[in-house]
Amino acid sequence: MTLECRNKPRYELRMLTGPRGGKPHYLDFQATTPVDPRVFEKMRPYFSEDFGNPASQDHAWGWTAHRAVEAARLQVSELLGCKPAEIFFTSGATEANNWTVFGLVRLWRRENPTKKIHIITTEIEHKSVLAPLKYLQQEILDPNLFEVTLLPADRHGRVELAAFQKAWQPATQLLSLHWAHNELGTIQDIESIANWCAEKKIYFHSDATQAVGKLPIQLQQTKVDLLSFSGHKLYGPKGIGALYIRSLNPKVSIDPFIFGGSQEKSYRSGTLNVPGIVGLGFACELASREMLAENQKYGRLRKILLDGLTEIFPGLIINTHPEQHLPHALSLVIPWQKQVISNSLSNLAISSGSACTSGEMSGSPILKAIGLSEEQAQSTKRISIGRWTTEDDIADILSSFRLDAGLQY
Ligand code: PMP
Repeated sequence: MTLECRNKPRYELRMLTGPRGGKPHYLDFQATTPVDPRVFEKMRPYFSEDFGNPASQDHAWGWTAHRAVEAARLQVSELLGCKPAEIFFTSGATEANNWTVFGLVRLWRRENPTKKIHIITTEIEHKSVLAPLKYLQQEILDPNLFEVTLLPADRHGRVELAAFQKAWQPATQLLSLHWAHNELGTIQDIESIANWCAEKKIYFHSDATQAVGKLPIQLQQTKVDLLSFSGHKLYGPKGIGALYIRSLNPKVSIDPFIFGGSQEKSYRSGTLNVPGIVGLGFACELASREMLAENQKYGRLRKILLDGLTEIFPGLIINTHPEQHLPHALSLVIPWQKQVISNSLSNLAISSGSACTSGEMSGSPILKAIGLSEEQAQSTKRISIGRWTTEDDIADILSSFRLDAGLQY
């Protein structure tokens, strides 16, 4: 058994093979990851044995749960290079992004009801950032007092500092930019943009859902004020995530998002999801320990995959930024591959650049926003390599593509 296969969960048994057979391969790790079995083992006791409520401070079950939550908070903070007290557990990145938008805007509106608020973000943010902004803009706030600038991205999905500088106005209070893109795998120049925000005294929020556990993040050395992420993208469970809120230089002021029993220092009420938190914490600890070696493997396998695909499909176009990219991710226009994966590829779980809306297939709006035609967007494939993918798997995956190319031509 190779090193890469150690602890591999048996998730690929679930996949259908195509009529032509072919070993199943899951290659959609940007959509979600399996829970690492080592993480699952850490979570297990917290369902039925150590099931206490961390808010129960009168008995051992409560103390045990509380200790587990605080240990997990420490593991998360060690991965992110921040203080444990700056981590607030949420149900995932969607909630963390919504909290950032609603929590800040509500506070600013309350403190100064007649002052204009301007927020800068990009056209290619995740919907959990864009939808709350749109809701506030269209349904709640006076358009004279609330403005959102959505910046376009370049061909690879980058938005440069100069564009943010140009969009700035005296009313600007928040800039929200993803760290790495979920469809494209492109990484933004977070450091320069965050530094500029600090100079301008604008809060900087980053949706780092795709970056945490893949890229080294040291929040104390970066001028990021708020950061969202989710457990299920880093081999932790679904339904758990966190929002980092800077506590010093500057101390970020934000309103609570969910009101109730005063958990999470009254910022995010609701009984804590202890097994989820324990899982997220241990997933972060594993990432702290293994990220470097894992990224080297990703780099090697990604190159073999990309070289192979370029040879099979001479017209291939790479959407992902050539240098600034996640170590395991690729977004490719394979020109003659439409959204319906042909039979020979049905053994590969890869994501297409299209979605079915009202029965019609249409290319992803993100891909169109970076300049792809409808046809190119529909021919895009997002492929990502995972913790247990091996070199043999890549060879096998390339064979499936080769067969598919042969079938089509
Ligand atoms: N932001 C990004 C960049 C994502 O990729 C995702 C998940 N696709 C989310 C936010 C939302 O995460 P969750 O569904 O776990 O809340």
